[in-house]
Amino acid sequence: MSAPTRIAVVGGGTMGAGIAALACRHGIATVLCDVDEAAVDAGVRRVTDELARRVRRGRMTTAEADATAALLTGSADLAAVAGTGLVLEAVPEEPQLKRDLFARVARIAPAAVLASNTSSIPIATIADAVAAPERVLGLHFFNPPGAMRLVELVTTPATAADAAATARALAVAIGKQVVAVADGPGFLVNRCARPYYLEALRIVETGVATAPQVDRACEAAGFPMGPFRLMDTIGIDVSLAVTRSMFEQSGGEPRWQPTLTQEVMAASGKLGRKSGSGFYDYGDDAAPDVGEHAAASAGDAPALVERIVAQLVNEAWFALDAGVARTQDDVDLAMTVGLGHPRGPFAWGRELGLQRVVALLGRLAGRDGDARYRVAAGLMAAAG
Ligand code: NAD
Repeated sequence: MSAPTRIAVVGGGTMGAGIAALACRHGIATVLCDVDEAAVDAGVRRVTDELARRVRRGRMTTAEADATAALLTGSADLAAVAGTGLVLEAVPEEPQLKRDLFARVARIAPAAVLASNTSSIPIATIADAVAAPERVLGLHFFNPPGAMRLVELVTTPATAADAAATARALAVAIGKQVVAVADGPGFLVNRCARPYYLEALRIVETGVATAPQVDRACEAAGFPMGPFRLMDTIGIDVSLAVTRSMFEQSGGEPRWQPTLTQEVMAASGKLGRKSGSGFYDYGDDAAPDVGEHAAASAGDAPALVERIVAQLVNEAWFALDAGVARTQDDVDLAMTVGLGHPRGPFAWGRELGLQRVVALLGRLAGRDGDARYRVAAGLMAAAG
């Protein structure tokens, strides 16, 4: 299956403009649609600004940037998506907005693959609004789309094989590594990443260590950013919304229960970097957090990391058991390429020893059998 030579991106914000720039850079003619002329202009400007940045950094010549920009067409009229091979939506994360949009797009471009960039809305609920649900799938890019190498290709039981093949060909043509994922809460990456935040939060909530201690331990173990620094960067509210959505979609899976800390911080406007404070302070007079860092004794750090890793391993097994990913290698690829984790959860589990992981989860579950530490059936069986 070859990649479409002409696509449309609907929604020219952070993600849509980034994806449109990427497609044009790879020679794919792209129509960028948004709600009105001003929004279209802003989206087109985001693309041309990105190209100008690449010229300044010596990554492309002015002539190449001009030729790339010439592949982009902006339109405030959704009719412009007609005749494209794939329409990718990157409008705000509102289920009804996406459903209404795809219902319209499906009529305007009856042969196009309809791809959603949603992070958390089940693809099946969007496909349900379209007369031909076999054309609907998820192409989940990460932010910023130009730099992040992974794309999740999310299919539902209704998605046609040729639609998935077209979407995969597009993602490969624009330089991405693709991991095939089944529709479900958090897809693969967000799901398998949850314990990185939630276990870290439990460690702090139970007074085992402080947030800077946990961050320092994780960063020393090779994670690009500690969980608290990362939540501050993503936004406490954004991180909470993903957890909440997974908890709700799963009918209350205990492992994905939002923590009180996140709820209180989000409600009180402590949202991380963007609000000036979160787990750390970001004001001009904020003190560096070296003092607390220094308090983490080297002896504690491996135990903190092992506890978080045990839950990352467990969640990966749950995802595999549920058929969210096809293979252990796919999960490891997603977590290393997608999130920069130093090892994939399956590789890490093998390295630690699965019996050791199961024993640690058993200790964390305690005598009352805390359901958050229930061991995945596949992990239990593999540990022997
Ligand atoms: P954004 O707010 O930056 O951009 C959304 C764009 O959609 C805006 O330009 C807006 O004018 C436009 N829009 C709104 N309604 C529209 C309509 N009816 N028709 C056409 N355009 C419309 O949002 P974003 O951060 O780019 O997120 C877009 C999608 O990508 C969301 O589903 C989000 O969950 C997902 N996503 C975001 C990130 C991220 O880090 N920002 C990462 C992965 C996935």
